[in-house]
Amino acid sequence: MDLTTQTLQQLQGRLRAKEITPTEIIEALAKRIEAVEPKIQALLDINLESALVAARAADVSLPLGGLPIAIKDVINTRGEPCTCGSQILKNYRAPYDATVIRKLKEAGAIPFTRTNMDEFAMGSSTENSSYHTTKNPWDTGRIPGGSSGGSAAAVAAREAIAALGSDTGGSIRQPAALCGCVGLKPSYGRVSRYGLVAFASSLDQIGPFAKSVGDCAMLLNAISGRDPMDSTSLDVPVPDFTASLAKDMKGVRLGVPKEYFIDGIAPEVRARVEEAMKHCQSLGAELVEISLPHTDYAVSVYYIIATAEASANLARFDGVRYGHRADAPKDLLDHYLRTRAEGFGPEVKRRIILGTYVLSSGYYDAYYLRAQKVRTLIRKDFSDAFQKVDAVICPTSPEPAFEIGDRTADPLRMYLADIFTIAANLAGICGISVPCGFAETGGKKLPVGLQFLAKELEEQKLLSIANAYETTTGWSKEVAPVG
Ligand code: GLN
Repeated sequence: MDLTTQTLQQLQGRLRAKEITPTEIIEALAKRIEAVEPKIQALLDINLESALVAARAADVSLPLGGLPIAIKDVINTRGEPCTCGSQILKNYRAPYDATVIRKLKEAGAIPFTRTNMDEFAMGSSTENSSYHTTKNPWDTGRIPGGSSGGSAAAVAAREAIAALGSDTGGSIRQPAALCGCVGLKPSYGRVSRYGLVAFASSLDQIGPFAKSVGDCAMLLNAISGRDPMDSTSLDVPVPDFTASLAKDMKGVRLGVPKEYFIDGIAPEVRARVEEAMKHCQSLGAELVEISLPHTDYAVSVYYIIATAEASANLARFDGVRYGHRADAPKDLLDHYLRTRAEGFGPEVKRRIILGTYVLSSGYYDAYYLRAQKVRTLIRKDFSDAFQKVDAVICPTSPEPAFEIGDRTADPLRMYLADIFTIAANLAGICGISVPCGFAETGGKKLPVGLQFLAKELEEQKLLSIANAYETTTGWSKEVAPVG
């Protein structure tokens, strides 16, 4: 049997029944990587030796014992590279484990491979990676989404069983949708950000990519919880997210935001999402029209707040403490200027400039402060909606994967890829993307993602609803052709 086709839950059953060993799983993935990685380029580093050492020592009775997890190259793993897709961290090696990595290891999991990403998680296509563009396993002429495109493509191309990514404005859910896998953004504060290289600290969350909702729940169990090293992580109970995953939607009220079904959604995306809504009704859900009146402002507010926070967070890359350092600087200013000019790519520079501008004296009130006020209104839109409904149902991305190079010259069009995902980060709520069928273009099938959003800390409800959808449709089981 090809172990790379299995879910975490299936592999766990086989490991515990002693039908297979953790080493065999790593070897099967390594073989698969050798075969498809030249076409897909989902990875930045393959730490096979250390993974095999960990596999030999793995205790399969632990919650994730012996299970390999691919890691987005923005999460520190002791002794491994953590480039963030940037030249500025090209030769950096992490001196410590992020809390999520420590927790994965304590649960018995094996971090295996580092996945490609847009530089510092800024982008929607992985084209902003300074190393290479990852290809979509359903059509290698197209992007896999971003910024965690490497994680999504690795799972879809079966180079990984599951992966971690980070989501600041959609970077887990959008690539999951475009590659046909499941991607979960937990509520803000559910998962510690300690050891995640910060992009926008009030928006960033780490979350799982997997082949099933159940696998996402399993990973969320392992990575959640209060961490003294991250003061924004919440001190709330962590339920067993794999327990009580429903198979129907009896009594569930799903909100359909009227502002989300606008012109500009690809017709096939609209059609698949409408079919999915009907399917939810057949499972017992009631569809309720809701309004999220400040939706129009979400992208603008995001690009003020996220860039402001990024401009502050990226100040640490100064060539003094770590990372790239310019050769033979004339003086200190020349050292800073050339180090950062050489180390950062164009999108990162654009964000630093935008963020510095909106925070500068004279513009702070007009942009940053005002954006914070509108953020409060967006948050209130959702809290009002969740008085009436259990979850929101909508598309994850307005369109399927686009062609490589199609948007690189037009940053504003690229920013619109996240129009349906950004508000969840601004509001701090949780969201998941699950496969809901395909769009057909030029004889190729391109995955379409369905998004559910739920109130902050209601991951249990969110996963349950997504599980009911997934297990009564076959979409998550479709396998990418890789060609
Ligand atoms: N595409 C969005 C951006 O470029 C979101 C990225 C993310 O979630 N990290 O900012």
